[in-house]
Amino acid sequence: MKESDRKRILVTGGAGFLGSHLCERLVRAGQDVLCVDNFYTGTKENIAHLLGRTNFELLRHDVTFPLYVEVDEIYNLACPASPVHYQHDPVQTTKTSVNGAINMLGLAKRLRARILQASTSEVYGDPEHHPQQEGYWGHVNPVGIRSCYDEGKRCAETLFMDYHRQHGLDVRIARIFNTYGPRMHPADGRVVSNFITQALTGQPLTVYGNGAQTRAFCYVDDMVDALVRLMEAPASGTPVNLGNPCETTMLEIAQAVLRATGSPSRIEMRPLPADDPHQRCPDITLARQLLGWEPTTALEQGLRRTVDYFAARLAAQAHAEGAPGNVVPVSATAREARAALS
Ligand code: NAD
Ligand code: UDP
Ligand code: UDP
Repeated sequence: MKESDRKRILVTGGAGFLGSHLCERLVRAGQDVLCVDNFYTGTKENIAHLLGRTNFELLRHDVTFPLYVEVDEIYNLACPASPVHYQHDPVQTTKTSVNGAINMLGLAKRLRARILQASTSEVYGDPEHHPQQEGYWGHVNPVGIRSCYDEGKRCAETLFMDYHRQHGLDVRIARIFNTYGPRMHPADGRVVSNFITQALTGQPLTVYGNGAQTRAFCYVDDMVDALVRLMEAPASGTPVNLGNPCETTMLEIAQAVLRATGSPSRIEMRPLPADDPHQRCPDITLARQLLGWEPTTALEQGLRRTVDYFAARLAAQAHAEGAPGNVVPVSATAREARAALS
């Protein structure tokens, strides 16, 4: 990259699942990347491979506090994304979304920097319109156990649009639908990481409710591609849905994970958590038009790569503990990964 094309790019939440893939992508492209994270759900392991690079810096910082740095672009991803994690300290979750957005918008305003917000399909709540289009205002419980996340993200969208209208900021709002892949936290309670970990360790796959609720799962590489395209696109001044419009029930996901792992685990039904959306799938017409983007990774292919990652992780963990019996991977993939590491 020519020196004049190189940008200083801030990624908040850069040590998390999505953020670490985004940092990696930007570093590889030759950009000058500053990763800011308080390690609430992210880990240094996720970005350890970038630490020696001269175009990568790491700063431990909580975005609910002001941040004074000099950058050209900001990707604001800081916020726990899994229901288990964001409900653990709901007040901090709202502070991260709202105070974090104000601080990052204040920073962007001072620098006249372009800023992208990682928003979410949760702004649609338990939707009454299907598939969801950007014009749909949503159906969100304002006082439930998911509200800290849903309403926090909705308020952040409001702030982004008001800084755009009031201060002329160049903002981008990505409404991200369920995304999965390597570096998801194995204990974060999300469905794909739960099912894969359970399948690889021979435990029952815990399907909540009757398993007929739907989500649409996007592989992480496709999502990172979309985020970079949205940042680089001509200004849109409107939120954009990003996700894979391939709708799947949780029972279908469980079966796909069993196929991908070759695990003999059985499926066990558990109660459905409160306010769990029944049906969700993005309409990505706008993303196709504005970004020339659509996902290219099929679910089976993405699950296979994710299973390989979790299998290698479990194998390394068992190896490090010197007690291979602690974790008993059941699939061929896991056995191969363990053999490769030992
Ligand atoms: P994640 O939990 O893996 O990553 C979030 C990162 O933010 C972590 O590294 C965490 O330590 C950091 N963080 C949290 N609070 C912080 C704070 N106050 N200050 C600084 N850092 C903080 O989650 P993810 O899946 O990578 O999600 C990243 C972003 O994308 C989030 O904003 C999330 O809401 C959004 N999103 C993700 C999905 C998905 O399916 N993965 C879907 C919709 C939206
Ligand atoms: N802020 C920041 N870094 C900056 C500039 C601002 O973290 O470089 C924070 C600061 O906490 C401020 C908030 O962003 O309160 C909003 O800034 P803005 O300029 O919009 O409003 P202010 O509160 O300064 O009037
Ligand atoms: N889910 C499940 N088993 C699990 C974890 C989650 O059946 O072990 C369900 C959950 O009830 C929801 C769906 O899977 O209906 C997606 O959950 P996740 O937490 O991954 O994402 P979100 O609900 O935020 O879309």
